[in-house]
Amino acid sequence: MANYSKNLAERLLNRGPNIGYCAICRTYGSLTKDHVPPKGCGNINDSVISHVYDSSPERPQKRVLSQGGSHFRTICGHCNNTLLGTEYDPALTEVVRDIEMYFQRASDSRLVLPRTQLFEYQPNRFLRSVLGHLLAANAVKDVVANDHAIPLDDALREYVLDPSKCLPEEVCVYYWFYPHRRRVAMKHSVMGFFGGNGASIYGHVFKFFPFGFWIVWDEQGDRSRQFGLRSLDDSSQFISATSRLPVDLSPLRSPNFPEAPPPDGMWATTDYLASQAMDRASAHS
Ligand SMILES: [Zn+2]
Repeated sequence: MANYSKNLAERLLNRGPNIGYCAICRTYGSLTKDHVPPKGCGNINDSVISHVYDSSPERPQKRVLSQGGSHFRTICGHCNNTLLGTEYDPALTEVVRDIEMYFQRASDSRLVLPRTQLFEYQPNRFLRSVLGHLLAANAVKDVVANDHAIPLDDALREYVLDPSKCLPEEVCVYYWFYPHRRRVAMKHSVMGFFGGNGASIYGHVFKFFPFGFWIVWDEQGDRSRQFGLRSLDDSSQFISATSRLPVDLSPLRSPNFPEAPPPDGMWATTDYLASQAMDRASAHS
């Protein structure tokens, strides 16, 4: 464990120990590699994982090569293959494929895109897939010890593990259209506001084509309202419920939203909890 703590301070890690506490169910046992996002979202090519923020001469950027897609060895075989792989991931990968096909058709026929397009989906499975892989991302520190409670992650785990749960009311999942290939997971980050009297927005950011998600915990006040984001509020206790997901195709948000804050804002995060991944072929060397 000492070695892992030391490594965490130095570089971003995507491989946890062979045995540890599963980042989803917290069972102690063998850990497996989880593709983040799942392979069905196009995450299949050799990838480079790195910190989100630029290196400095004192602290050169250390990149990690991840073969066959960006993955993290942080969850058990059951959570990986059964819970996510079989139960939840198909609902996510189907929507991703539908959106890709929609753009393919639109570009073939030179269709003028509407501002908003609806896509069929299974909200409860879709969201559990997203949150399960987010729990696995940048979670090497979580798997080497199980000694402290983090209310946001505990709430997400409970939701992912129990198919009859509704999303707890402290959790708000914002989402937007993200037409970029850079995959980003930024956990336990905070947006603060100058002169905001301590107002802040705390949570996790998770972005991969074609979605950006901002999972906000217990926001006091309504600072997030200024961004005009849609939230996933279809959560119900019926795991196979279906609905239609509105995706706003325009106007586009900055690829760096929300971590590049508004003029009156600031963004705080921790290096080892903020990673980005690119296909190796397109990553800048
Ligand atoms: Zn597990």
